[in-house]
Amino acid sequence: MLNIILFGPPGSGKGTQANNLVDHYDLLHISTGDLFRYEMGNNTPLGLEARSYISKGDLVPDEVTIGMLKNKVNSNPDVKGYIFDGFPRTIAQAESLDEFLTEKDSAITVLTSLEVHDDEIVKRILNRGITSGRADDNDETIIRHRIANYNKETAQVFDYYAKTDKSIKVTGIGSIEEIFDRLKSAIDEAK
Ligand code: ADP
Repeated sequence: MLNIILFGPPGSGKGTQANNLVDHYDLLHISTGDLFRYEMGNNTPLGLEARSYISKGDLVPDEVTIGMLKNKVNSNPDVKGYIFDGFPRTIAQAESLDEFLTEKDSAITVLTSLEVHDDEIVKRILNRGITSGRADDNDETIIRHRIANYNKETAQVFDYYAKTDKSIKVTGIGSIEEIFDRLKSAIDEAK
């Protein structure tokens, strides 16, 4: 299996690049943000719980997120691999994911981290907010809070996978094509 963690701060272009990677490597894209938005859109109990965190720019608690992720993987077993987008976002999530994949005789192949500086991220997310309709994309204070969470909690996940030489930094500035080429090179080298 080819299992990729697409990593990087909010607004770094993970969703866009995930779509390109899915086509190129024939993988299943799992975005925890998209899964939460689907649940919120349907006003499910999970969606209602998630909304109370997401609207403030906070992370949804690990147990909730991990449970949802495992369900999605378990209901799609016959694939060549997964692109995890927006997950893991904490060390606890990374440890659960590794354990879960080990039980399936699988593992993470590589983590690619899109590197984009804070001011560019804020600009991109505010711009996305004009059309995304996402409440967490419209307010600079909430966006800055999401970036702060990333720096405080999520960035450690890079170091966690660096211990087994799986983490690679990729410059997230440039054209979509250029960034896609950089990601492919990093992934092909790690395979
Ligand atoms: P972005 O990458 O722009 O932050 P996402 O769509 O990945 O957007 O996530 C939107 C929100 O969903 C996050 O700010 C967070 O509240 C919640 N979320 C997504 N993934 C996770 C996760 N793995 N753990 C906890 N919360 C999450």
